[in-house]
Amino acid sequence: PFKEKLCLPAAVKGVIQLLQNKMEKENIQIVNNIPQDIHIYMDKHHLRQVLINVLLNAIESIDKNEKRIVLDLKETPQHILLSIRDNGCGIDPESFSKIYNPFFTTKPTGTGLGLFVCYQLLVENEAEIMVHSMKNEGTTFTIQFKRPEED
Ligand code: ADP
Ligand code: MG
Repeated sequence: PFKEKLCLPAAVKGVIQLLQNKMEKENIQIVNNIPQDIHIYMDKHHLRQVLINVLLNAIESIDKNEKRIVLDLKETPQHILLSIRDNGCGIDPESFSKIYNPFFTTKPTGTGLGLFVCYQLLVENEAEIMVHSMKNEGTTFTIQFKRPEED
């Protein structure tokens, strides 16, 4: 990976723009609570791929009337934590341990590669992905990024 100092909110905005049409068509509201001027240390193509995969999963999980995806950010001295929360179908307890496995999917036409790729790319960038989910309530993926050295 080619790691560099990246502006996280700018990258997020770019990916939201990319998925804008799809979200409008499906009536999904996206609430972006990420402040400006947050920087992480990562490969920019990897960051984009990870954000696309997680956001697409959030979009694909929602089938109720009030469809919402909320993005939040937390900072610690060493890390930046981005959470992507949806009010979708949630993850079955039996599926939990398998979601990062290659080819694991619960979708009729899924590839099961999205989260596997996220996991691999994040490891290469000294970052991590965590999940919290409640069946029929929704799912939150939290990505822990490395801060740039001189921030
Ligand atoms: P795919 O999207 O092709 O199924 P992924 O690797 O992206 O493959 O996701 C694997 C599985 O994890 C999905 O099939 C689904 O069961 C579960 N999953 C991932 N994200 C979510 C989410 N936001 N809400 C509910 N289930 C999810
Ligand atoms: Mg997917």
